[in-house]
Amino acid sequence: MLIVMKAGASEEQIAGVCRHIESLGLKPHPIPGAQRTAIGITGNKGALELSDLAGLDGVAEALRVSKPYKLVSLEVKPEKTVIPIGPPELGITIGGPEWVVMAGPCAVENREQTLRIAEQVAAAGARMFRGGAFKPRTSPYSFQGMGEAGLEILAEVRERFGLGIVTEAVDEASLALVEQYADMIQLGARNMQNYALLRRAGKARKPVMLKRGLAATLEEWLMAAEYLLSEGNYQVALCERGVRTFSDHSRNTLDLTVVPAVQEVSHLPVLVDPSHGTGRRDRVVPLARAALAVGADGLLVEVHDTPDRALSDGIQSIYPRQLEQLMAEARGLAPLLARRMPATASPARRG
Ligand code: PEP
Ligand code: MN
Repeated sequence: MLIVMKAGASEEQIAGVCRHIESLGLKPHPIPGAQRTAIGITGNKGALELSDLAGLDGVAEALRVSKPYKLVSLEVKPEKTVIPIGPPELGITIGGPEWVVMAGPCAVENREQTLRIAEQVAAAGARMFRGGAFKPRTSPYSFQGMGEAGLEILAEVRERFGLGIVTEAVDEASLALVEQYADMIQLGARNMQNYALLRRAGKARKPVMLKRGLAATLEEWLMAAEYLLSEGNYQVALCERGVRTFSDHSRNTLDLTVVPAVQEVSHLPVLVDPSHGTGRRDRVVPLARAALAVGADGLLVEVHDTPDRALSDGIQSIYPRQLEQLMAEARGLAPLLARRMPATASPARRG
């Protein structure tokens, strides 16, 4: 259910409608727009009586939302979501005209490796740094990440190089830590349908990047995002990272078709991860170009300077010079597609 307020509706009228919704035992989600405020309603078990709500002061119309997902849909919010990342002086946004590139190793392995790669990522002009401190590994015997010590290193990366930090939380305990240290919480493919974790991330005060599940349909992915918004976190970006198919020439099949499919129904920004999407270093740059060309809002790319010695995902990690090539190509592509790339290194760089 969606309430569309009149263009000139006052704050008091909006608050009045919200109070009325709460008095019915339901949850209002006011969504200010360029023209008017919409108020999404969640928590109803069955259909609501439209005429009761349409008659409230300041209401233009009350509509049923036709899709199973509501708050993530364009029906509820026709303007694209733009997410500010990190301290405002970093000037990073996701979903605006500027493409965001998040780059870094699969895992934070130690301080030296992380600072060394971060310096090269910043020099290439990427604005965000990735690196897992909590790693969801297929084998319980594989390196599981440095935990909080890894998060401290990531915070140092932000301080020294002015890069926004995105890193994964794998459970509620790690989410509480990631929320303190990082600028964006990554929820991984394996946790896309971990509903307790989604609800917890929905209560977090930091933006969330929700990766697509290994075999998730578009609707399942959007419903997972709906958990985050329904708990009050509207700062959500989606990330396509490839799905399982019968193809065996790459680790996963990067589903670039999903980018325009998301954009047709949702206002959430959509990023693409060609590293996990292909699993092969030589495929990453070509698929990154394709992702930008198809309309993605940015990229998540694994970078390592000594990938042969990486503790995870070395095979798909590109070298820093390949990241430079990718950034140069993206700078060439941006004006053709009415997008922007940050000129060179981050303005806030202090390292
Ligand atoms: C990662 O980004 O390193 C990762 C584990 O990704 P995914 O959840 O997509 O497998
Ligand atoms: Mn990885």
